[in-house]
Amino acid sequence: MPTTTTSSAIKGSGFRGGPYGIDTRGILFHSIAVAMLLSAVGWFAAVVTMHRMDQQVKRSLAIRAAGAASLLDSKRAADLLDPSSPEYGSSLALIGARLRALRNASPDAHLIYIARVEQGRMYMLVDSEPEASSSHSPPGQALSVLSPDAMALISGGRCAVLGPIHDRWGVWVTGLSPIASTTTGDAYAVLALDINAANWPRRLRGPWSIPLLLALFTGALAATLILMRNRQSVQQARWLSTHDHLTGLPNRSVLSECIEAAIEEAKRGKPSTLVLIDIDNFKIVNDTLSHLAGDEVLIRVARCIRGMIRETDLVARLGGDEFVVLLQGVPVQSALTTAERIRESVEDLKMEIDGATVDVTLSVGLTQIDGLCDQRGITLSADAALYHAKDNGKNRVTYPGAGDEAGHGRPNVYDRVSMIKDALRDDRFLLQFQPIVSAGCGPGMRSAKPEGIRWYEALVRIVCPSRGMVLPGEFIPWAERFGLITQIDRWVVNAALQVLANRDSIGLFINLSVRSISSASFLTHVEEAVAASGVAPCRIGFEITETTALGDVDEAREWIQRLRALGCLFAVDDFGAGYSTMSVLSSLPVDIVKIDGSVIRAVGSEPAHRLIVEAINSVAHSIGARTVAECVEDAESLAALDQMGVDYVQGYYIARPASLEAHANEPTGTLATV
Ligand code: C2E
Ligand code: MG
Ligand code: MG
Repeated sequence: MPTTTTSSAIKGSGFRGGPYGIDTRGILFHSIAVAMLLSAVGWFAAVVTMHRMDQQVKRSLAIRAAGAASLLDSKRAADLLDPSSPEYGSSLALIGARLRALRNASPDAHLIYIARVEQGRMYMLVDSEPEASSSHSPPGQALSVLSPDAMALISGGRCAVLGPIHDRWGVWVTGLSPIASTTTGDAYAVLALDINAANWPRRLRGPWSIPLLLALFTGALAATLILMRNRQSVQQARWLSTHDHLTGLPNRSVLSECIEAAIEEAKRGKPSTLVLIDIDNFKIVNDTLSHLAGDEVLIRVARCIRGMIRETDLVARLGGDEFVVLLQGVPVQSALTTAERIRESVEDLKMEIDGATVDVTLSVGLTQIDGLCDQRGITLSADAALYHAKDNGKNRVTYPGAGDEAGHGRPNVYDRVSMIKDALRDDRFLLQFQPIVSAGCGPGMRSAKPEGIRWYEALVRIVCPSRGMVLPGEFIPWAERFGLITQIDRWVVNAALQVLANRDSIGLFINLSVRSISSASFLTHVEEAVAASGVAPCRIGFEITETTALGDVDEAREWIQRLRALGCLFAVDDFGAGYSTMSVLSSLPVDIVKIDGSVIRAVGSEPAHRLIVEAINSVAHSIGARTVAECVEDAESLAALDQMGVDYVQGYYIARPASLEAHANEPTGTLATV
């Protein structure tokens, strides 16, 4: 994961159970709060909706009242104001009948009446009910008081709505429409239309809100509880899979992602440092106190380390008493100060556990993430530094550069890895060349010096400032183990091609390691480098050891086929050293079989060796390959090999590995004709 991954992983690091332990009380409080909020929102929405419906219904009631009023004869209606007028009786009957007809045509209407308005109160003039009906009110009966709003509307000649009104007949709303004088235009009376509120929106019927609110709240609470519980379970599961349960620190999987990200950053020129921390003598704490006390120590140390680094750095627990700090973007020299601070502050911790004082010290190993090493190499390198610190008395910080003084000429893993990394960084590799010649051309042999191409094996060395020339036996196995070998092989291929490009009378065999063979991108690089060098491919040979070839025959065959397709030679190296099977030769289309030095050395005197060499020689020839005897150290062996029909020889007896200048006058080989 990129840097962001690191930060999020670190920010989520708490202690004991972490930030995502299921907190039932927290969930409940949180859910209640969310449910209240949701209910309030729901309530508000319901109120607004109801209000709108209410307004709409009131508007339609007012329109109905106005419609009813327009059907009345306003002169007749005016007669009702004066009971002493001669038309009063006939107008009362006429208008009463009209109101009854209107009421009968409106199924939801309870009562329709005309009332006089005086000082804000209505007084009955006539209603739609027969005199015998209990709903009938006699003329002059005082009715409802109009609200100031309604009064203002009526006086302005506009309709109004009253209610809901609760009375002994139920709940009503009343639409009022003014009846104005035809002469003055003033409203002298109103037509009232009483409608049963039971058929109206719920709001008009009263206390609907409490059950609605309760239902809203319960629903919202249940939904929120379920959602929050699920969310917390998912978060908790995720947290547990990426964190150490005891200390709450990120675990190995998070660390691994962060190291990968740091390697990528380092390749872009921003190195980081990996700090490996181990508690000294932790086993004694566990054994003499208790495992609980041991846990307590781990938690306090974890907390202390966390407190000493930046938010953006990562501290992880690898398990046991091992912690790792990844100091992002900090080169090793600067990281040293932080590592020392961590060591000192843990040393200064005064831990009182179970009544005992526990003193804890740390051994710390640092390694720089510089983009040269893969993750495995980085961890092994930090591991080596840590063990260097332990070896040298514990309670100390070891870092690259410290090994040379501290090691006292006793090279350990750490020194070797540092030496390789330094050599890669400072380009301190060197090629030496060992001739491969026809068996009959060795010193004192019968053949004249044939003209042709001179063949050599390119052998890599490190030129170390403190130790001089270091042979491959001292660094190749470590480079393979720490993931550095492909970089070395890449250097060798490039350097060998450069040598070939500058001399056209020689051919070179280049060794490839098992790790390089498994890299498809490296194969492509080799093909491209060969093409780009302009060197005739027939002057280039590659060697892979027999064990490498057997490790993954398919990969080996891919390399052999593709490089031979370019025109290069291919050899299987050290054949006869391992658990050789002759059958492997038939499955690998090689040009050369190099017989291992361990078989060659006593070939003149050991009949068994002689038999092995003869067998290899004959199988190799039968598949069309030529043979090279390695490590030819004396005249006797050379004569025996020549006599057995081995094609070429290589060894100290012919020449030791050296520079090309030193080899200038040696016999030539004829491999180019293979
Ligand atoms: P190798 O490929 O079998 O190389 C031959 C080794 O035998 C060389 O050792 C050479 O110096 C040594 N040798 C040659 N003649 C004699 C002799 O008569 N007697 C004895 N005792 N030794 C002799 P060197 O240079 O130390 O290399 C050791 C191994 O390191 C090589 O074995 C090869 O496996 C590996 N190596 C060398 N250079 C490279 C390289 O550039 N890349 C890779 N991946 N491996 C390399
Ligand atoms: Mg070799
Ligand atoms: Mg060899």
